[in-house]
Amino acid sequence: LQTKLPAVGTTIFTVMSALATEKGAVNLGQGFPDFDCDPKLLQAVGDAMARGLNQYPPMTGVPALREAVAAKIEAMYGRKYDPAAEITITAGATQAIITAILAIVRPGDEVIVLEPCYDSYVPNIDLAGGVVVRVPLQPGTFRPDFDKIAAALTPRTRAILVNSPHNPSATVWSAGDMRKLEELLAPTDVFVISDEVYEHMVFDGEPHQSVARFPGLAARSVIVSSFGKTYHVTGWKVGYVAAPAPVTAEFRKVHQFNVFTVNTPMQHGLAAYMASPEPYLQLPAFYQRKRDLFRAGLAATRLKLLPSEGSYFQCVEISGVSDLPEAEFCQWLTSEIGVAAIPLSAFYASGFDQRVVRFCFAKKDETLRTALDRLAKL
Ligand code: PMP
Ligand code: GLN
Repeated sequence: LQTKLPAVGTTIFTVMSALATEKGAVNLGQGFPDFDCDPKLLQAVGDAMARGLNQYPPMTGVPALREAVAAKIEAMYGRKYDPAAEITITAGATQAIITAILAIVRPGDEVIVLEPCYDSYVPNIDLAGGVVVRVPLQPGTFRPDFDKIAAALTPRTRAILVNSPHNPSATVWSAGDMRKLEELLAPTDVFVISDEVYEHMVFDGEPHQSVARFPGLAARSVIVSSFGKTYHVTGWKVGYVAAPAPVTAEFRKVHQFNVFTVNTPMQHGLAAYMASPEPYLQLPAFYQRKRDLFRAGLAATRLKLLPSEGSYFQCVEISGVSDLPEAEFCQWLTSEIGVAAIPLSAFYASGFDQRVVRFCFAKKDETLRTALDRLAKL
């Protein structure tokens, strides 16, 4: 069989979750909460189902949800998106990203990805027939290197994927970073696909720097977000895209033949729940407390803590406790210590091993404490 994705196997998240289950390990690998969402959100979805809102919604998403998203973006980032022409509800960020790439990238177009990057980006570009141009984030700090990005731009560059807060490194782009990207792209027609799924998880009082705040970026950007992350419902697979009307029109051409539309009652439930901004306004404090609890425990081990500025991830350097390569270390940690983690090498095409692994702290305090008790043996 001629395969379109010869290099692709089962994702590291699936592999590590299966191993965690098999070994009875605390799963700090795959990124998802082990606690439930607000019962009010469940009630809102249940109400929608009971009201008979169970048939196809409009192709672009339930209007009330598109309006709620537009209102949120305007309140948070000061930019108005037209809910009718510029917001589309998607089956999670995963579908949003592949649909954006299929809509924008033509065969032979170059697309810049900043490595390490989320594992779906490169296969998505491959499926679109694009040429992946990998630019490393700065070693050690995972900061964007604008000289390297500038050097990677060519007349064939069609798009760049950016992701802040960043999975896996938990770094966050500053306003200065965003302005540099804006300046760099100003003389070009390059699109930005901005993966902002962790937009409501930025710590230490810093604001999230959405591309929506920067006019020169917003005009060329497809913003992707996910209700799964924001409302602790990763299994619902509902997200959205915000993009200027002409880009949205192209996005929707692909979306309608990709999924056509997204489950109805969840959309109505989310729309009703979004009437209050409290849940997402409280999210930074909610996750910062968990980050701090987890970091305080890790500080007592020989794992070296890297900064966690945003997202629900914490990376650690492992050379103080093991000589194993990252991937083998994660297998060993899961099997022998009973805590699952994700090797950063999984986010690099080359499998680059820098002795760093990622933990997810979107867990009940008791789960984090159990994991820390086990990690204390290292
Ligand atoms: N982008 C990034 C950076 C992510 O971490 C994730 C979730 N792990 C996604 C996209 C996919 O989000 P969703 O579950 O909404 O499809
Ligand atoms: N985004 C999650 C992570 O980085 C996992 C998503 C998935 O399992 N594909 O862990």
